Formats: sequence, structure tokens, C-alpha cells
Amino acid sequence: MEEILYKSTRNSSLRLSASKAILKGLSEDGGLFMPTAIPKLDIPLSELKSMDYREVAYEVMKLYFSDFTEDELKHCIASAYDEKFDTESIVELVYANGAYYLELFHGATIAFKDMALSILPHLMITAARKNDIDNDIVILTATSGDTGKAALAGFDSVPGTKIIVFYPKGGVSFIQERQMVTQTGLNTCVIGIKGNFDDAQTAVKNLFADKELRETLDKKGYQFSSANSINIGRLIPQIVYYVYSYVKLLAEGKIAEGEKINITVPTGNFGNILAAYMAKRMGLPVDRLICASNENKVLYDFFSTGVYDRNRDFKLTNSPSMDILISSNLERLIYLATGEDDKKNIELMTSLKENGRYDISADMKAFMDDFYAGFASDENTLAQIGRLYDDTGYVLDTHTAVASYVYDEYRKKTGDDTKTVIASTASPYKFTPNVLKAIDKENVTGDAFDMVDRLCELSGVKVPRAVEEIKSAKIMHDKVVEVKDMKAAVCDFLK
Ligand SMILES: *Cc1c(COP(=O)(O)O)cnc(C)c1O
Repeated sequence: MEEILYKSTRNSSLRLSASKAILKGLSEDGGLFMPTAIPKLDIPLSELKSMDYREVAYEVMKLYFSDFTEDELKHCIASAYDEKFDTESIVELVYANGAYYLELFHGATIAFKDMALSILPHLMITAARKNDIDNDIVILTATSGDTGKAALAGFDSVPGTKIIVFYPKGGVSFIQERQMVTQTGLNTCVIGIKGNFDDAQTAVKNLFADKELRETLDKKGYQFSSANSINIGRLIPQIVYYVYSYVKLLAEGKIAEGEKINITVPTGNFGNILAAYMAKRMGLPVDRLICASNENKVLYDFFSTGVYDRNRDFKLTNSPSMDILISSNLERLIYLATGEDDKKNIELMTSLKENGRYDISADMKAFMDDFYAGFASDENTLAQIGRLYDDTGYVLDTHTAVASYVYDEYRKKTGDDTKTVIASTASPYKFTPNVLKAIDKENVTGDAFDMVDRLCELSGVKVPRAVEEIKSAKIMHDKVVEVKDMKAAVCDFLK
């Protein structure tokens, strides 16, 4: 088998080992790492279907993390997917109203980010050891609400690491903010910024590209890495659950071997759906990838017209983790669509940076035929939660509801009744006031925790530990800075 190495979407001749790519997070040329080839699953689905989550994880990840030994990788997997998850199967697959909801929120911070962020710290520590890194690794992360807490939980008190999280003050849910600002651990730092997620993400990318800062930190014994979905240490672990859900459906006799399924994903930074696309390229029988956006529907417009245009108002919606206008991981799909032409990709990304837009050729658009895109307004989202609850008693969070609505519309429009998996990305408890508003308007009263209790009565779903925990937890972080002062805040924490 060909050994997979990593190149950059802005430098096709670069070759880095998987462990080095994980340590760096983002390439120094500003590009994202991509494997030199997308490997094929080398074990039949009929064999995968009798495996548990950890075993499937190994079969997928071993193809990408080629400089990790079997022992190292199995150790990372065993340390990540353990009792931190509240279900032994790590994920659940729930059938409701014509689709299979793949519940990815059974980890420590009740959003799908836990799927990859419970393993990333282990991959990173292993990678640091393999590369004789003496520096402390500083994880620098921008969050639209869920990555922050999942990364904090993953890196809390991990020796040899520090983590700094920037979140948009006023742009995340009450529970999301409370989860982050109550984070313990001397190596953690949480800072609100006066700006939106795109501002935070762009500023963080600039800090990565800041050579002078890199050199100063190196002298002090620090180096940056990323816990955002630009890191392949996050992207690859996300492929696993798509493979796993397919073989679970197979094992349960819900689909026949080789039968194609559709996958619908509520999308923001384009990481989760890109993982589904990679699963397809690895040979998983997948037909369409349905990309669901909220009112920040830059991706819907892009797939419809071939023009990516971020010049528009940024909206704060009831699915805040998808409030994004610059979907970083789309660069990876663009790169593939150019035939891995780094020059062409640089041209488009430069246009995005300078003019806020780019357009793609007809050939590139045809390359993306696997994708269908739709969007849901805030109103559509709440109505969808209400409808599903009334029909089935099953409660969705607002992000998953965006996907559920877009999928129903897709089916109405196309008549396509291919069996479909919908990525369910957060527990409804994380967005309680809006979820409650959708299913029980009269009772949206009291504080956030009263509403949690009411939601529990209505849904019959146990209140997750992650919510119980923050009821009485002490606030540990209260710093808020302007975007221009983010660099100073980083230096201050590391001094
Ligand atoms: C991050 C997130 C998304 C969007 O995922 P991307 O990989 O950024 O597209 C959707 N739903 C929830 C709950 C999230 O936390």
C-alpha cells in the first residue's frame, strides 16, 4: 500500500508525515493539509459490520495516519472512545419520520465536536513524542460555540499543552458560553471577542501565519497548533462515524450490501460534510451529500451558482454553531475540484481574501455534482422541531433541525427516497430555550435551567451530565477583547 503523506492545498509538492501535519495544524503557506491520495477501505463492509466503533475507527484511521504504529493508534483510539461517552456504542442511530438520525452528541460536551476532539489531544501528544518536540504545544482555537468546549475538555490538564479559545461574545448560546467560561485547568484560557466567528477564525489564521510571533514563541519554548477542523487530526476521525453508521444499517438489515445511502449534514465550516465526502471517495456506497445551511446560506448560493460570495450581512441565527460566512474546509473540495492545482487554488483563495468572492469553472462545478444544497430560516428550523416532536416525540436541536428541514424539502422536490442518514450534531439541551420555544411555546419561562427541567419532562431524555455540571460551576474566565488585541492576549497568557 502506498504510504499516505500530506501536501498543502497551496503547495502540491510539499510532503509531510501525518504526525507533522497534525502538529502544524495549518500549513505555513496558509493552505490546508490534504493526503497525497484518498485511500480506499481495504477491508470489506461485510467484515466491518461486525466491528465496534473503536475497531472501525482503527480500520479507517490506519489508512491516513501512516507513521503511527498500530500500538500508538490503538492506544489513542482506546483513550478517546471510552466512558466519556454516555453510550457504549459511542454514537446512536435513531429512525424518525423517514430518516436515520446519527446522534453524534454522546460525548463529554454534547456536540459532535467531541467525536474528533476526544482523540485529537492523544494524536497530538503521540505526534510530539514521535518528532522529539520539546516545546509546549499551544492550541489556538476560534469557536462558533462547540469546538471551544470540546477542545478545552480534551486538552484540560494535558501535560505539555496549553489551550487558548476565542469565541464571539454574544454569538453563542447561554449553555455554550457557560460551558466554556467555567472550564478549569491551569493550561486553559477562554476569551470572548467583540466580533463574529469569521473575525475570530481569520485572526487566528493570521496568528498562525505570523512568522515573527512564531519565532518569539519558539524562543520561549512554545509552538502553535490548531484544534479547528482545518487540522487533519480532526477531519480524519470524522470519517469514521459515516463508515460506522453505514455498516450498522447493514448489520441491522436496514440496507443491502452495496446499497447507496444519502447523507445530510448541517453545515458551517464544511468539515463534517467533507468527512462524509471523503468516506464516499474511500468507497463507502454513498450517493448524494446534502449540505444544509441556516440563513447564512453562502454555501447554498455557492452550490447553486458556482459563485462563492461572502459580501453580505452576517446573521445571528438560532443555530449559532453554523453562523459562518467563510467555510474553511471548502478550500479542500475546491483544491480537489481544480485537479489538485495549487496555483489555481491560490488564485481563488486570494480573490476570496481581497474581494470576498470567487467563481469556479463549469468543470469544477460538475466535479461537485455529488452535492445538493439547501437552507432553512430560523422559522423553518423551529417549525421542523415542532413537527417532528408532534409526529414522533423525538426532539432535535436547532442545528439538526436545519438538516432535517432541508432533507424533507429535498425529498419533496426530487422524489428521491434513497435511505438517508442525517448527522445529528448536538443535544437539544445545548440550545434549550429555542428548542422549548418550538415544542412548548407557553412554557418558555424561568431561567435557562428551569427550561432544561421542562425540556426533560417533555422529551423524557435524561439531562446530560454536561448540563448538570455547569449549574453551580464557578466562572473561571471573563476576559473580552477587541479583535485587534487578540495577539496581545495570546502573548499575555503565555508570558
Ligand atoms: C460545528 C457544528 C456544526 C457545523 O459543522 P462544520 O463541520 O463546521 O460544518 C453543526 N452543528 C453543530 C451543533 C456544530 O457544533
